[in-house]
Amino acid sequence: MCKVQIDRDGSTPFHFKISADELSLNDEIADVNFDDDILIDGEIINSGKSFDIRGTINCKKSFICDRCLKPSTENQEIKFDEEIDPTVIFDNIVDLENLIRDNLLAAQSIKNLCKEDCKGLCPKCGVDLNETTCDCDCCVIDPRLEALKNFKFE
Ligand SMILES: [Zn+2]
Ligand SMILES: [Zn+2]
Repeated sequence: MCKVQIDRDGSTPFHFKISADELSLNDEIADVNFDDDILIDGEIINSGKSFDIRGTINCKKSFICDRCLKPSTENQEIKFDEEIDPTVIFDNIVDLENLIRDNLLAAQSIKNLCKEDCKGLCPKCGVDLNETTCDCDCCVIDPRLEALKNFKFE
C-alpha cells in the first residue's frame, strides 16, 4: 500500500493515497476520525550515503470539540523529512507505512478544539459561550478574589 520502488541513482517522487483503516488509525486515536483518504506526496532523494524522504501528508479529521462539544472538522497538512538507512531497503522497495502513521499520530494534539479560542460551554447553564452569553456568576470574578486584587503590598 505504502511501498515505493526507488531509483537508486536519483530521486523518486511518490504520490498516493491511503485510507485511515489501512493505517489502523481510527483504532489508535479513539476520539478522532479520518474520513476521506489520506493523501501523501513527496520524494525519496538518494544522497549517496542515505536516503532522504521528504513530503506532505494531507488529511481531514472530524471530532467533537472538547470544550463546546460540537462536531467539527479540521484539514491537516503534516510535513515530514526523514532519513532512512539504505541497509534496511530490500529490492529497492521502501515501505512508508510506519513513517506515515508515526507522523500522523505525532501531529495530533491532546485537545481537539473547533477553534483555538473556543469559549466552550457555561459550566452552570450549559449555553455555548461562542454563540451567546449568560448571567451565571461562574463567569464573574469571585468577590474574595476581587478583594485580593485590590490589596496593596506596603
Ligand atoms: Zn468548540
Ligand atoms: Zn451560564
